[in-house]
Amino acid sequence: MSGRFSRGVDGADTRLIRSINRNALFTVIRGNMPITVSQLSARTGLSLSTVNSVLKDLMDVNLVLATGITASTGGRKPVAYSLNLRDICVCGAELNARTIRVALFRLDGSIIRMSTLQAENIEPLALASVVADTLGDLVTRTEIGLDHIIGLGLSQYGIVGPEGNRIRLDIQHGWREVSLGSMLQQRLPIPVFVVEDTLAKLTAELEFGGEKNRQHVLYLLFGSSHGQGVSGRFVSDGSILNGAQGFAGQFGHILIDPCGPRCSCGRRGCWEAVGDVSRLLEKVKDSLGPSPEASNGLLETLARIRAAAEKGDAAMCAVLDWFVGVQAEGIANLIHTFNPKHIVIDGAVVVLGDIFLERLKIAIEQKVMKPYLEGLKVEFSAMGDNGALLGASAIVLREAISIMEQGLASRAMRR
Ligand SMILES: [Zn+2]
Repeated sequence: MSGRFSRGVDGADTRLIRSINRNALFTVIRGNMPITVSQLSARTGLSLSTVNSVLKDLMDVNLVLATGITASTGGRKPVAYSLNLRDICVCGAELNARTIRVALFRLDGSIIRMSTLQAENIEPLALASVVADTLGDLVTRTEIGLDHIIGLGLSQYGIVGPEGNRIRLDIQHGWREVSLGSMLQQRLPIPVFVVEDTLAKLTAELEFGGEKNRQHVLYLLFGSSHGQGVSGRFVSDGSILNGAQGFAGQFGHILIDPCGPRCSCGRRGCWEAVGDVSRLLEKVKDSLGPSPEASNGLLETLARIRAAAEKGDAAMCAVLDWFVGVQAEGIANLIHTFNPKHIVIDGAVVVLGDIFLERLKIAIEQKVMKPYLEGLKVEFSAMGDNGALLGASAIVLREAISIMEQGLASRAMRR
């Protein structure tokens, strides 16, 4: 088998360039379908011949269809193209603190069907079996053949290897060096990719989050599905910075207070040890009472904090101000490091609403040097609960297209 990318005579990574063009074209079609070749060329900056060539590749693997003739003022009427929303889909899955969710998405990101199962303290082998069985069940209920599902992307908390197979460290479940991707792949005949939850959610934000600045984005995830941790990524010139091993963005281990509490990493005073969402919950436990035991207990407690602060509860406002102060300290470090244009706040803190966000903006303004604030926008993610599922499915879609480039998946995807 040849390497993943073949080099052209001019030394260019021709397959990589082709892959970038394909992703760009795919994204533009998704946002503007039906669309003609000339419109695609105008929007992507690619030549007409390149657009035609990439379109042919996408049509060969049944991802894009010629869906009709567009209106024309005269002469030959151009053909319009759309994603195949009819009979091709992609699967996203997510392991939360207490649940597993598996969903089938159309290529435009709309959900066909989703299943949620209880899964507390689940082991990796059992997780792989549950996900495979649930996908099998979805296939039966939707009557979509497995050979029409491009692949499965699983969003996973923790540090995940860039190869989309191995979980290097998941503190919440106590997993180290778990080849979850292989376990799933043994049970499924479609490409499987395991992806860090932060990366999945950021991908959803970038691909489906609407018209925001995507060139210089600081993405921050406060409170994963477990309510713990501070993580994120920086998008520089439109590219996600993943680092040498793909582990970038563990912002929660930036030092905030050298005398602070011990962190899960072993050091003292890391951002997430000093003040992540779990610390906020601890501080309000006495005044609000213990968190409900239901699977959404974390979000319910945050909603109660918000409601109390909105009513002017002095103690709750003070706790919220402390929480905002810690986050602003960490964010100020990152603003001075990365100089973002747009900060997207995601995770459980979104439930705290404007009473948190407005305080955070003020605190950031007080801690950051003026030139960095010019044009800076701080907003919540618009993705809601399904970001991780959608992002994981978007990532496996891209990976599966790469696999198809190597001709390995053409059998399954051809009509
Ligand atoms: Zn730490």
